[in-house]
Amino acid sequence: MTTDTGRARRPAVDGWFTLDGEPALLGSRCTGCGTYAFPAQEGFCRNPACTSTEHTPTPLSRHGTIWSYTDARYQPPAPFVAPDPYVPFAIAAVELAAEQMVILGQMVAGVGTDGLRVGMPVELVVDTLYADPERGDDVVVWKWKPAGGTPASTTGSTAASTPGGGDHGA
Ligand SMILES: [Zn+2]
Repeated sequence: MTTDTGRARRPAVDGWFTLDGEPALLGSRCTGCGTYAFPAQEGFCRNPACTSTEHTPTPLSRHGTIWSYTDARYQPPAPFVAPDPYVPFAIAAVELAAEQMVILGQMVAGVGTDGLRVGMPVELVVDTLYADPERGDDVVVWKWKPAGGTPASTTGSTAASTPGGGDHGA
């Protein structure tokens, strides 16, 4: 982890997720039909049967289950945010039950595809995407982390299974 460096954190994309406390993705919900969108929708609803153009900003569920996953050998399309230069990593498509949507995200460092399985519960975290040498801060993005225990590499993890209270990274 590189979050204990005392460096400033800057979101890779403004307004897509919160940084502090329990981070959450910021999506929207259609006032007409209730369809969720991420990133937040503007203009017409993505539901073709709906004519509403009003969307309420809303934080999305912080927990989901893995719907699919892969070794990301190639840079995924937006809204996924990838480091530059691109480094392959495990990527998961995570289903949010309440929102009935699937959110792509990088898995936290140390979690490869062999540590993943479909249906596995995961939790949203905000983690360093890359360190910006020019501005001297860390650019951060949302990532998925296995919920309820860390598989395989637990090296140096003192707060891995602290229920509801560890201030890791502080
Ligand atoms: Zn709608």
